[in-house]
Amino acid sequence: TGMRRLVVVSNRLPAALSREDGQWKVNAGSGGLVTALAPVLRNRGGMWIGWSGTSEEDADVEGLLSDFSAEAGYDLRTVPLTSDEVAGYYFGFSNEIIWPLFHDLQTRCRFEPDSWRMYLDVNFKFAEVVARSTTQDDFVWIHDYHLMHQAFFLKSMGVKRRTGFFLHIPFPPPDIFMKLPWRWKLIQALTEFDLVGFQTIQDRRNFTNSLHRLMPEASVKGRGAVVTVDMGSHQFRLGTFPISIDYNQFAAIANRPEVARAAFDIKEALRHRKIILGVDRLDYTKGIPERIRSIQTLLRRYPDLHGQLNFIQIAVPSREEVDEYKDLRTEIEQLVSRVNGEFSFPGWVPVHYHYRSFPPEELVAYYCAADIALVTPLRDGMNLVAKEYCACNVSGDGVLVLSEFAGAAAQLQKDAYLVNPYDLEGVAKALHRAFHWDKGQRQSHMSRLRDLIRKNNIYWWVDSFLQAGIDRKLGDFPPV
Ligand code: UDP
Repeated sequence: TGMRRLVVVSNRLPAALSREDGQWKVNAGSGGLVTALAPVLRNRGGMWIGWSGTSEEDADVEGLLSDFSAEAGYDLRTVPLTSDEVAGYYFGFSNEIIWPLFHDLQTRCRFEPDSWRMYLDVNFKFAEVVARSTTQDDFVWIHDYHLMHQAFFLKSMGVKRRTGFFLHIPFPPPDIFMKLPWRWKLIQALTEFDLVGFQTIQDRRNFTNSLHRLMPEASVKGRGAVVTVDMGSHQFRLGTFPISIDYNQFAAIANRPEVARAAFDIKEALRHRKIILGVDRLDYTKGIPERIRSIQTLLRRYPDLHGQLNFIQIAVPSREEVDEYKDLRTEIEQLVSRVNGEFSFPGWVPVHYHYRSFPPEELVAYYCAADIALVTPLRDGMNLVAKEYCACNVSGDGVLVLSEFAGAAAQLQKDAYLVNPYDLEGVAKALHRAFHWDKGQRQSHMSRLRDLIRKNNIYWWVDSFLQAGIDRKLGDFPPV
């Protein structure tokens, strides 16, 4: 099949520019996606295209990035964006329309037509850079909801590229998707990729259900992880690829003596009470207020637990310039105070709340220290925190309490304790029961969770997407 060069396209580059004391600096991205794709880009030869994260003109973006790229071993191309473009395309369309709508929270959408127009303009700009920087022999892998029009614009320019698109967030059911004023154009644009990947079967089914309503000519052929959609004029593939983590890397950090020590220090400081842990970006999809209320319900229902447990919530600052996120932060902080005000006594404060981001080693120490991970998003594409907790649970007897509305539930349902995050009493009951699981029960569930995540890790995810996009039965594709 030859080794096609891999070109990754995402909103942000894997390197972020920031200014410290007047000096521009490049910070390497550290997320799971960057970790997983970096070796592939290096080995196959590759390129990453995205926005640098700054609209300021005094930054020597190209110069700063060329040093980074020399060290990383793959090329970088930046798409310069003005602050108006960022406002319309990123904050407006991506984060105030698609993000809430695709997480089933339609009442939070602001269907602003100017945002839609800016989304198209910026997608066109990205596509021009992609066209200029790539050849017909490349495989162009586009990531996420910011860039759903890439294949559409490439084709409209007459530029033939083999493209794959992966949606990291959920795809909503048709009754919700149909509320989008630009629904037809958006779904049509998605049909122009050669491969469209989703996190779960449910997301894929939601997509095909909307597709059948809006484009009746579409017919789905085959079954299994990857199927073909025949549009009459052309064909494309649909696949399910649940994203994952670098399992070994997390487990290795958890096994370091200094991290084990830090975990012990956390437990000791909390007098070896049971620890329930929540870790999220501060986002309204994560169900943090509901989660705090479920802790309140737990403490109201089961007075015997007073003084016996701590709930630790780590909330990582996110989209702080958006009003809704500011309001959410205030709401959470009031709820934390309220619950602590209701139950604290000398020597015990039930809820510990951290509003900041943690370096990986410290985060892993919290994962290791926690008896229960309480992962209760209202809706989530996957939720990597759930998988990271299991990978770090080297003691093997932690419990994962997981929202049935997280993409991760599709894979982990057999051995996680599934809950409905809106059902405060149900979550409280689940926590109470989880405390009474015996050690053997906890260990057998956790060891199965760990096995599954170790096998279906981030490298497996990259391989399966690339195989479906490039290698698998290559002849099926119409010639590019
Ligand atoms: N995380 C982080 N800094 C922190 C705490 C967590 O970068 O202080 C990471 C965490 O390790 C995880 C990611 O943030 O990899 C959250 O991913 P998830 O899929 O759970 O949710 P998302 O934020 O992508 O919606």
